[in-house]
Amino acid sequence: MKAKTTDADIQSGNALLLDAALESIPYGFCVWSDAFRLVMWNKHYRDIYGFPPRRIRKGMTLEAVVKLSAALGNHPDQSPAEFLAAYKAELGNNRGGARAKVRELVTGGRTIETAHVYSPGLGWVVTHEDLTEAIASSEIAQRRKRELERQNIRLDAAVNNISQGLCMFDAKGRLVICNEPYARIYDLPPHLIRPGAQLDDILGHLFEQGMNAGGSREDYIIWRKDVIARGEYGKNIHELDGRTILMQHHPMKDGGFVSTHEDITEQRQQEARIRHMARHDALTELPNRTQFIEELAGTEAGLGRGEQAAVLCIDLDHFKAVNETLGHAIGDKVLKQVSARLWGTTRETDVVARLGGDEFSVLLRPIDKPADAAGLAERIVKTMSSPFSIDGHQIVIGASVGIALAPADGGTTDTLMKNADLALYRAKSKGRSTYHFFEPGMDAAIQQRRAIESGLRQALARNELRLVFQPLVGLEENRVTCLEALLRWDHAERGAIPPAEFIPIAEETALIVPIGEWVLREACRAAVAWPTDARVAVNLSPVQFKSHKLFETVQAALHESGLPPTRLELEITESLLLAENEPTLQTLHRLRALGVRISMDDFGSGFSSLSYLRSFPFDKIKIDRSFMRDLDSKGDSMAIIKAVIGLGHSLGMSTTAEGVETEEQLEAVRGHGCNEVQGFYFSPPLPPAEVHELLRAELAPRLRRVF
Ligand code: C2E
Ligand code: MG
Ligand code: MG
Repeated sequence: MKAKTTDADIQSGNALLLDAALESIPYGFCVWSDAFRLVMWNKHYRDIYGFPPRRIRKGMTLEAVVKLSAALGNHPDQSPAEFLAAYKAELGNNRGGARAKVRELVTGGRTIETAHVYSPGLGWVVTHEDLTEAIASSEIAQRRKRELERQNIRLDAAVNNISQGLCMFDAKGRLVICNEPYARIYDLPPHLIRPGAQLDDILGHLFEQGMNAGGSREDYIIWRKDVIARGEYGKNIHELDGRTILMQHHPMKDGGFVSTHEDITEQRQQEARIRHMARHDALTELPNRTQFIEELAGTEAGLGRGEQAAVLCIDLDHFKAVNETLGHAIGDKVLKQVSARLWGTTRETDVVARLGGDEFSVLLRPIDKPADAAGLAERIVKTMSSPFSIDGHQIVIGASVGIALAPADGGTTDTLMKNADLALYRAKSKGRSTYHFFEPGMDAAIQQRRAIESGLRQALARNELRLVFQPLVGLEENRVTCLEALLRWDHAERGAIPPAEFIPIAEETALIVPIGEWVLREACRAAVAWPTDARVAVNLSPVQFKSHKLFETVQAALHESGLPPTRLELEITESLLLAENEPTLQTLHRLRALGVRISMDDFGSGFSSLSYLRSFPFDKIKIDRSFMRDLDSKGDSMAIIKAVIGLGHSLGMSTTAEGVETEEQLEAVRGHGCNEVQGFYFSPPLPPAEVHELLRAELAPRLRRVF
């Protein structure tokens, strides 16, 4: 049976409920009466201030509680009296319903926030909340926030300081962040670099500005979307405003992506320069062999469609002499001018290349007929033969041209180049400054040249060389004053080979040095035995001067034969004096000091500069036989002969007319005071035995009339 509940029961039950409620509040709680006496409190209140259970009693005065509190280390920042006065004032001033908050510092460095509210009849209800943890965690949050800001600043600096453009997009294609170089590279307006800007809008803008990403605008957008969708790396090179930009797309885990943008314009230009250098000649800027061969290979397809083309191989004449005598710096300048002249003769569709050294090539495409190629070759020969004026030097070179026609002379690059080269060879052996078409059988001619070269190496040992002598007749003396030694080669199989054919080969291979030495000895030996004191003339090649022992060789030849030096004449050509070459001039002076006479041979045939006559005191000028040949046809030949003879007189040099074949020619040069004549009109070159006969006959007075 249930006991009856009394009022006292109800009251004590209510008190218990209130206690339980007070204790369950998560903060300290107490009530102060109007007379500042403690009415009630909970355990949290005691715990906050560290009040032992028995020291806190109902009805305790505020003074007693404050004193106890201070003794326990609370409010260390204030004295108990100060704290009490302030507290009383705060409570006393708040007799309304509003909550007032005050912070206190309590033992253990904790921060307590008290809030009091006045309730009439009850007093002040005060709550005490320990804010220590809350404050600490908000401080951490503050610190974190500051740290994050610092990091952001650093990131910003890093992102903006890299030279590449950089931007990050989220999975929805919205811009998260981009740096300053990104905006600059594409010159993007502010609204497109703000976070949230859409990739589609940015791309749309760039295409409107004329961006070229390789294909069409749609192609690029489809590709980019595809790369984004598949979360893959991708790259693209695009052009905008004359600049080249490399874009690299890097996927991120969350579906977004980062793209980097690099202005590679300069790098590209550098690469283009390197590519250009690999295919062009550095000196002349013309395409080089590699590029030429490629262009030629490229025309092969056209040949299949019935087109015609021509390959011209060009070689400069006398260029080696320019290089050797005037130096490489001038040689280089000549090559540059040669390139400019060559280039000037061709059309836009033709290719002019420098294959190396003084070798050039022209690809003429397309052509209608072989005469087109001949026309160009003629123009090239002509333009190359006019003098080059470089650093005060008048330089005369010339060019020989070989032509191969495609497809007639070959359909492949290799054969065309080879055949044009063979044709060039022929042009050169024809006497230079001319052109020649390829002809079948030229290959055999080259083989023959090789045979000459190897045969020449053995000619001396095999006694295949001999000398003939051509008389020079003194017009005043009316007798043979000199005989020019001319070399002959009787090849074991091929018979007599003319010097014009083998001497250039001997010079190229430097075989002219031992051969020339043999000629000197042989000529001196022969002359000593002649019945008169006619001089002997020996031709010297510039190559012999380069061997540096020419003086000794001449001296030895004179010494061994016993020929007086005054009976020896040495003939040199203008090419030797192309530049004033100190060692060469020195050798000439030393030879002359021995008593040997020095003649300028073939004067007027090559470089034709009167300054050469001033550079050395020649004893004799031999006027080239081409003037004699042109005497009837060209009026100026006579004038030139006359001028040279006059010049010889005034410089104290005797003059010889070469190639006199007719009586008219003889009379013409005699009339102008020429001292000596040489030519078929008097005698061809004679074998040694006939020289004896001639000179002996000359001694017989009745035969004198012959001359
Ligand atoms: P060169 O020194 O001018 O020799 C004169 C050349 O003219 C000779 O030709 C001679 O046969 C030719 N000749 C003489 N009179 C006449 C004429 O009335 N009409 C024509 N059309 N020609 C005439 P060759 O013997 O064939 O010699 C050619 C060149 O070879 C020489 O020209 C000379 O430069 C060179 N040469 C010959 N022998 C030697 C040598 O021993 N050493 C060197 N280094 N060169 C030589
Ligand atoms: Mg000569
Ligand atoms: Mg001559």
